[in-house]
Amino acid sequence: MPAVSHPSRSPVFRLITIASSGLGSFILGLWGLQFGFGDGVVGLPAEVVGAVIAGLCALAAGGAAMSFFAGVDESVDYVVKETHFDKLTGFLSRPAMIGKIAEAAQETKRTGEPVFLIDIDIGRFKQINESIGYAKGDELVRAFAQRLKAALPDKVVIGRIGAGEFAVLYPDAYFNMSMDVIAERLIAELMEPYDLTAHQQSVNVSIGVVAMPKDGDDPVLLLRRSNLALQNARAAGIGNWAVFHPEIGKVADYRQWVEAELNVAFERGDFDLHYQPQIDLLKGRTVGYEALIRWKHPERGMIPPMEFIPIAEETGMIGPIGEWVLRKACADARHLPDDCFVAVNISAVQFMTKDFVGLVGDVIRETGIKPERLELELTETAMMQDRERAAAILKQLTEMGISVAVDDFGTGYSNLSYLIDFSFHKLKIDRSFVSRLDTDPNSGAVVSTIVGLSRALGVHAIAEGVETESQATLLRAAGCEVFQGFLFGHPAPLRMENGALKRAAGGGQGFH
Ligand code: C2E
Ligand code: CA
Ligand code: CA
Repeated sequence: MPAVSHPSRSPVFRLITIASSGLGSFILGLWGLQFGFGDGVVGLPAEVVGAVIAGLCALAAGGAAMSFFAGVDESVDYVVKETHFDKLTGFLSRPAMIGKIAEAAQETKRTGEPVFLIDIDIGRFKQINESIGYAKGDELVRAFAQRLKAALPDKVVIGRIGAGEFAVLYPDAYFNMSMDVIAERLIAELMEPYDLTAHQQSVNVSIGVVAMPKDGDDPVLLLRRSNLALQNARAAGIGNWAVFHPEIGKVADYRQWVEAELNVAFERGDFDLHYQPQIDLLKGRTVGYEALIRWKHPERGMIPPMEFIPIAEETGMIGPIGEWVLRKACADARHLPDDCFVAVNISAVQFMTKDFVGLVGDVIRETGIKPERLELELTETAMMQDRERAAAILKQLTEMGISVAVDDFGTGYSNLSYLIDFSFHKLKIDRSFVSRLDTDPNSGAVVSTIVGLSRALGVHAIAEGVETESQATLLRAAGCEVFQGFLFGHPAPLRMENGALKRAAGGGQGFH
């Protein structure tokens, strides 16, 4: 293998280094002799002692110089491998990918043949990595990379540009279908669960696309733009993809603002909880209240949870915020009627943190809430990230006496087998089915099926987002008896009057 032409690594330079180190040290030894050891040691003449010292010095220095060069593989292949390729996946490293994007950008400018830069991201990879451990995280990246490679034409260039982020250069000429089909197929394939050695891992995938030469020719700018498109896709929900357009920059600015402001807001105490009643028509009363976070920014006013919760999840701010919500809701429960529970939304990220169960236990002890009065709302996505761990956590929560509701039921997974493994107590029929009840007969069928399923599983069902009388009537016809929605009460702050609860006027049919 040819040696790399680096001046400090050439054979001649090595020889000179080793020889000059040795010679220099030899002279130093002789020089030192004149000062310290001139009188001779154990009867040996001074010259002999001097020569021995100088010789040893020379040997030591030469040895040190040699060991500096030893053990270094300097073949071109080795160096290229180390710097150009990602060790885990064999794809191009980030710097090498930037080089390839620059080449492709020049080429497309010359030929006019478009090339697409596709940014593919494993959602919340950092958190997944922390929760499953780095070794399994590596295994996941490898499996993901293999699937990605298999899903793409042989000749496309792929790079690993972040821990859980990949970039693909896809020339238009390789397309035998539209970008919609390509992106959607990629997402569907990459989001199938991964069978790792010890467990099955699900991931969310988002994709951002830029087109060259249309969207620029500077590789760093192009990567930033594909990433902006990706963030836009991610903000739109699970398994989305988006193409860059100039307006995206504004969305990104707002996102950055929210990200920076979240910390400040938390310290400043901008957050509050509102409560929305859940009504059991058979019992004829409110049975529980869902706690919903509210962020009132001093300048910008109300910022909806859908705009900041996903960002808090990505930045890790959901940790302190979620803990605050749980603690406050449990503390507030003492102001609610004894026969009402409080329901708290738990984000997937929070649910998968190391000692979630420990935190819930602490909060229960500190606030004195009876565990039976606490309900945790979890989405299917939260439970599916690591099924075995989720099943273990749910079992522990149930043993503690806490109930669990599956939030947004029906929107996440078509495979319902998880329902058998998990211990939970309630299915919350997603608002999207309820809102279509009046117009779409299929929604009615879905709702009856979910109610039937809940009965078969021996759990409760509740419909969320009930806004009209006719929706309520259709839900009752489908067998659903517990409701939450504007028809029965808007989310509102808890107001105390003379030590007694007085919910602020939230509209709706009352029941409190
Ligand atoms: P979600 O858990 O599905 O909560 C229900 C959402 O629907 C709430 O929106 C509620 O205000 C709204 N809603 C209730 N009834 C009706 C209705 O009749 N019609 C319509 N159109 N909407 C109704 P909100 O408060 O904006 O919260 C949105 C989402 O943000 C929640 O969806 C939940 O996923 C998340 N979220 C809210 N608070 C928290 C929190 O404390 N922690 C976490 N992790 N997520 C939260
Ligand atoms: Ca909820
Ligand atoms: Ca919902």
